[in-house]
Amino acid sequence: MEHRGIHELRENVVGLKSLLVWSYLLLDGRDVLAIDSGLGPHSFWIKSWFRKTGRDRKDLKAIVLTHGHVDHMGGAASLQRWSGAPIFLHPADRDLAQGRFAGPWPSRRLAMVEKSSNLMFWIRRFRVDHDLADGDVLPFGDGIRVIHLPGHTAGQVALYSEREKILFAADAVLSRGSSVFFPHRLFNQDDRLARRSVFRLADLPAEWVYPAHQTGLAHNIMDDLRRYRAARESAGES
Ligand SMILES: [Zn+2]
Repeated sequence: MEHRGIHELRENVVGLKSLLVWSYLLLDGRDVLAIDSGLGPHSFWIKSWFRKTGRDRKDLKAIVLTHGHVDHMGGAASLQRWSGAPIFLHPADRDLAQGRFAGPWPSRRLAMVEKSSNLMFWIRRFRVDHDLADGDVLPFGDGIRVIHLPGHTAGQVALYSEREKILFAADAVLSRGSSVFFPHRLFNQDDRLARRSVFRLADLPAEWVYPAHQTGLAHNIMDDLRRYRAARESAGES
């Protein structure tokens, strides 16, 4: 199905794309896991995809938020009300997701952008049901591994499906075609930590990578990520 921002990317992966950002649905039979809830129309598209595929809203088993930025959790409150599915988030991003800015922020401007975006996009409060922690394996499919990658935000996580060999990289690593790039330092709470965190992803045996911001839909970015790590390590960073 290719319809108004809904993209069937692989047999068990549906992508929702608006201008800024992708969110994803991971499927296991009839069960569905939402990875982020996007911004603007994402939650509407998710509901309409459920209708079109004949799924019940109870088939949405969990909403996992990779971090507390506004473009990743826009539809969370609406999806939670609609489905009753529990929301998962790393505790270090709870304040951020609730519009409280404990900092440290790299700039007051970024804090202001985040705060005004919450207001501008009508980010509604939602209930966080479960904390995520590094090394958790979420009981979905054969298990989804949680990888804590602090830096972009304090509580950002990536998710890795062992069975599908798919890495959902959130904003830790972004892609353009088969090249990786990274969020501008002004968007990272701790830029040095963010750059170190992505090294953890380079050893995963991922065959497919789905960042939250990407163009070109070429997912073979693991080689480029490993080249990036090698270059940083030879420059004395680790
Ligand atoms: Zn972000």
